[in-house]
Amino acid sequence: MRHQIAAANWKMNLTFQQGEKLLNDIFEADISLAPHQKVIFAVPFPYLIMAKSEVEEEKSFAAAAQNCSNKKSGAYTGEVSVEMLHSIGINYCIIGHSERREYFNETNSILAEKVNLCLQYNIIPVFCCGESLAIRESGKQNEFVQLQLRESLFHLDSEKMKKIIIAYEPIWAIGTGKTATTGQAQEMHAHLRSVIGNHYGSEMASFIPILYGGSVKANNAKELFSCADVDGGLVGGASLVASDFIEIIRSLK
Ligand code: PEP
Repeated sequence: MRHQIAAANWKMNLTFQQGEKLLNDIFEADISLAPHQKVIFAVPFPYLIMAKSEVEEEKSFAAAAQNCSNKKSGAYTGEVSVEMLHSIGINYCIIGHSERREYFNETNSILAEKVNLCLQYNIIPVFCCGESLAIRESGKQNEFVQLQLRESLFHLDSEKMKKIIIAYEPIWAIGTGKTATTGQAQEMHAHLRSVIGNHYGSEMASFIPILYGGSVKANNAKELFSCADVDGGLVGGASLVASDFIEIIRSLK
């Protein structure tokens, strides 16, 4: 079975102490994961070493960065390089979250550079794509996400592409409490899989995990994750509450 993943995106929330307590509360729940299931915590940079050491004992749990620089190293004050993440043992990084695209002008080509650097350092990119409400209302969402994949990922050879995790996050559903219907999620995930299949072949299409993100909650996760092409979720708000995120993890297929 494809990997099924619950990924928490804490964004710029929680103090160090609150973050540590949240992780402890989640681990106390004694969650047992099947071999194909994984839980990833994308935490703020200053908490990565703590999160990494907290998850170390927990098989199938991992810490992730929420972003990285598209530059290798040098005079880029305030940036964090992929090499730095690698040097503290981080194996996952969210790339191209819509908030990065919108507030920090990250383009598909900048994201391609980040993807390349991550793969060079054996860090798995959790690559986000997704359309705005205006694009959805114009009916052009399929072409839009296809272009995001094409311009940021499709230069990769098959060996590298195989390492990617994709998160489909319709912008109109992020932090809004408005979730895509299971029909909308399944339709887009199947589309993404067929776009991957057309470029890399059907084996690749059925191998890559595609997570859904956008107001995943404890009370809708099971239904969303039950869609054939939805392989878990990238979760913002609900990942900040231990009991909610535990429920979401337990909703994985
Ligand atoms: C996200 O941060 O990627 C996200 C989907 O947020 P939320 O779950 O709060 O909508």
